[in-house]
Amino acid sequence: MYDYLVVGSGLFGAVFAHEAKRAGKSVLVVDKRPHIAGNVYTEKIEGINVHKYGAHIFHTNNRQVWEYITQFAEFNRFTNSPVANYKGELFSLPFNMYTFNKMWGVVTPEEALAKIEEQRREIGGQPRNLEEQAISLVGRDIYEKLIKGYTEKQWGRDCRELPAFIIKRLPVRLTFDNNYFNALYQGIPVGGYTKLVANLLEGIEVRLNTDYLADKAALEALADKVVYTGPIDAYFDYQLGTLEYRSVRFENELLDMPNYQGNAAVNYTDRETPWTRIIEHKWFEFGKDEAGNDLPKTIISREYSSEWQPGDEPYYPVNDEQNGRLYAQYKKLAEAEPEVIFGGRLGEYKYYDMDQVIAAALRCCAEEKLL
Ligand code: FAD
Ligand code: UDP
Repeated sequence: MYDYLVVGSGLFGAVFAHEAKRAGKSVLVVDKRPHIAGNVYTEKIEGINVHKYGAHIFHTNNRQVWEYITQFAEFNRFTNSPVANYKGELFSLPFNMYTFNKMWGVVTPEEALAKIEEQRREIGGQPRNLEEQAISLVGRDIYEKLIKGYTEKQWGRDCRELPAFIIKRLPVRLTFDNNYFNALYQGIPVGGYTKLVANLLEGIEVRLNTDYLADKAALEALADKVVYTGPIDAYFDYQLGTLEYRSVRFENELLDMPNYQGNAAVNYTDRETPWTRIIEHKWFEFGKDEAGNDLPKTIISREYSSEWQPGDEPYYPVNDEQNGRLYAQYKKLAEAEPEVIFGGRLGEYKYYDMDQVIAAALRCCAEEKLL
């Protein structure tokens, strides 16, 4: 008999399992995938750590989380500065003086601000959706070229039907600073995320290829408590209906050339290009192998965003009003099951970044009196 059965070996599950073991509890981790690490899984191909479920850049302002996670891996100095490609025109992201200069020819912050103010005037009052929020942040020109197409491809919905908060994640700066994140700490774990998660799970029994929901009764009989990090609606057999997710399809290509696009991420912000962005994985580790040698080949991934269908990997919770209401109902059902803790991006149906998931897992450990 185990104290805890942890369903899912992603960051939430791995942090919880690690702390439970450290507190002297017995833990079994199961994952339905053939590997650990959930969505942060990386696989080494041709010397390159490929982010198999999409590019993951660790960034946080939470010093406690940074100090915690850096116990399990060394982080490099990677800083995310994606480039936007709009029909062959290149712009710097996030929205900063380089972007404004390219868009409008403005040179000083004062000129840039005047341009934004002039364009944001069309939105009176509190922005009610993503389109209004975007225009009121950066004006219509940037909205049309750098936001509208990308966002509609990513979310499969009109920008007027999306919540404003999604776009508030992006910084707007009147300086020549193209660091995508407003974060004190940022980097990529040297050697890949899989190694980091393996370090968290060291000494813990993990059963892969094990779907908890397919064998629920037998598995839950093995432990006093369950920590479930899969989709909350799947746990309840979709009895109240399905929560919506966005999924992503990755098309990976190994290219016999050292440098395809000169940057880790290039976003295709027009509506017509079918992919949202292309990731060139080697640049997360500066194009070098662990010995510091230049890598001769490269691996790129085109990302295609799609509506989630049963059987697909759910990636992004769609946090609009309708799904929010449905989630609240599932949460009530979850609260009626005190022996099961629902955690993580899917268990809590929240658009969590990695640092937030780690913080949530640590909070959960504290509630369980494991810290
Ligand atoms: P997951 O990693 O999804 O882990 C859940 C695990 O549970 C999975 O391994 C799954 O197989 C398993 N599971 C589910 N159901 C069952 C079942 N029935 N039985 C057994 N196992 C089950 N965050 C950042 O901070 N920076 C980024 O740059 C970033 N980029 C992202 C890019 C993409 C494309 C996506 C989708 C997310 C990104 N994130 C990023 C967010 C980050 O991936 C998540 O915050 C984090 O990985 C969530 O961890 P988790 O443990 O909650 O979930
Ligand atoms: N976004 C955009 N253009 C871009 C990049 C992002 O309009 O070139 C918008 C898009 O709506 C996206 C949101 O900004 O959903 C947040 O972007 P972020 O990169 O944080 O999204 P993530 O993929 O990390 O969830």
